[in-house]
Amino acid sequence: MLTLVVGVVMTVGGYFILHQREIVLEQSMRNEVEAHARTLQIALEAMYRAGRESEARELIDSMSDNPRVSAVVLFSASGDVIKVSDQLVADEIKFPPEVRHVLETGDLAESIRIINNEEVFSILMPIRVGNTRQGVFEIALPMSFIEADYARARREIALVTLLLFVIIIFVVVLVTRYSILRPIDELLRGAAALGRGNLDYRVIVPSNDHEFAQLENEFNRMANNLEEQRNNALREMEIRLKLERELRQSEHLASVGRLAAGIAHEIGTPLNVIEVRAEQVLRAEQVLNDQDGSLERRRRNITIIITQVERIAFIVRQLLNLARPYKLQRVPVDLNALIAGTVDMLETKLKTSNGSNVIVEIEPHESAWVNGDKELLRQVFSNLIVNAVHAMPDGGKLWITYAQNKVEKDGKHFLVVQVSDHGTGINPEHFSSLFDPFFTTKDVGSGIGLGLPVSRRIIEEHGGWIEAANNEHGGATFTIHLPVAPRIAGESAFSTIVSEKEKAIQ
Ligand code: ADP
Repeated sequence: MLTLVVGVVMTVGGYFILHQREIVLEQSMRNEVEAHARTLQIALEAMYRAGRESEARELIDSMSDNPRVSAVVLFSASGDVIKVSDQLVADEIKFPPEVRHVLETGDLAESIRIINNEEVFSILMPIRVGNTRQGVFEIALPMSFIEADYARARREIALVTLLLFVIIIFVVVLVTRYSILRPIDELLRGAAALGRGNLDYRVIVPSNDHEFAQLENEFNRMANNLEEQRNNALREMEIRLKLERELRQSEHLASVGRLAAGIAHEIGTPLNVIEVRAEQVLRAEQVLNDQDGSLERRRRNITIIITQVERIAFIVRQLLNLARPYKLQRVPVDLNALIAGTVDMLETKLKTSNGSNVIVEIEPHESAWVNGDKELLRQVFSNLIVNAVHAMPDGGKLWITYAQNKVEKDGKHFLVVQVSDHGTGINPEHFSSLFDPFFTTKDVGSGIGLGLPVSRRIIEEHGGWIEAANNEHGGATFTIHLPVAPRIAGESAFSTIVSEKEKAIQ
């Protein structure tokens, strides 16, 4: 843009100077012709006055020697051509209307005309002797001289304009580069460094310009602020991390404490029983020979000891289920068949404590295949069914249903199974600890609080998740999400249910 503007200004300036030069050149040519004419007029008038007209003709002839003079023509008082400076062009000289005008008025006349095929600038002047006009003479200078001057002037001005243009552009580029581009470059470098996260970078703008100095100050102030904010954020993050670590540590300690308390409680009770019964057995040993019925009491005590030991072994097994790393024996499992088989297996447990019946209704899914460990999945459904039976002391219905549409999460499809009952439901306060180890609301001896945590662990090991919720019209629903396995060709889910049931009966 700058180049364009400078170019236009220089061209207009050059054109203006050239025009001025043309005016000056033209004026100087006029002056020159006029000077020649005046001199010639004085000489001719003197000759005419002295009656030496033949000398006047010689003078006119001698004018031909001057290369800058095209022609000199002498006219009589009647307007006839008396003499021309060059015989060759004599025939061409006509009586121009200006000659009459000069003879009538006595004023000089200027004109541009063609003589001898050449454009000339001519002046016509009267020759006076006293008050009478003796004749007129014309002196003409070729325009080619002035044209040559014009051309030279044009060349010179064009050259000077071009030179000035180049110098101005060079200076502008130099000044821009030094006083604008360099500071901007430095500011850009600073901005890029801040963008990369290098907040220690400070700019030093190489310029004495006031605006750039201000920009440098503002930029560095911004960098200081950013650095301070980053340091504050880092400090706060460290504090938060430390707090989180401490919190996790204390949560960890709390859960270990809860676990220890649970184990102590669950295993402590049977151990107490074992201790008391073992002491009784020992005492019975000492009086073995003289006590009637002691053998029977011993047998009862030992049976109780064995039951309690089995209970401890069960708790330990469940604890191990919760803590040990799993090695899943994954096979394609049809949940329809697995659930039906599990319900059949639990047939004897579908009676409540007060002898009422629990009816199980299963709504199979047309394609309920998952890739999983059969035994572990059976354990999950067994836990959920037993819990539901416990939640319905007066009997009722238990539904095992599937959501028709499979759920999609992170690009995977999940089969959704729901175990719902009509029982007591879950106390809202218990939701947060429902899946904690040893959380139970059941009486001592009937629940140890490991069923749900173990079930959750198994489902999560399969890549799924389990949720608990209360039903709108009473009872609770446990929802299991398990990743779907591709259906096995040729095997119908419903036929598998039948065969599983048959196996369970056998
Ligand atoms: P446990 O059955 O030995 O108590 P669980 O971990 O299986 O241990 O269950 C923990 C608790 O969750 C139960 O004591 C009970 O309070 C609650 N619960 C589980 N299933 C149900 C259900 N279907 N209805 C109501 N409460 C339930």
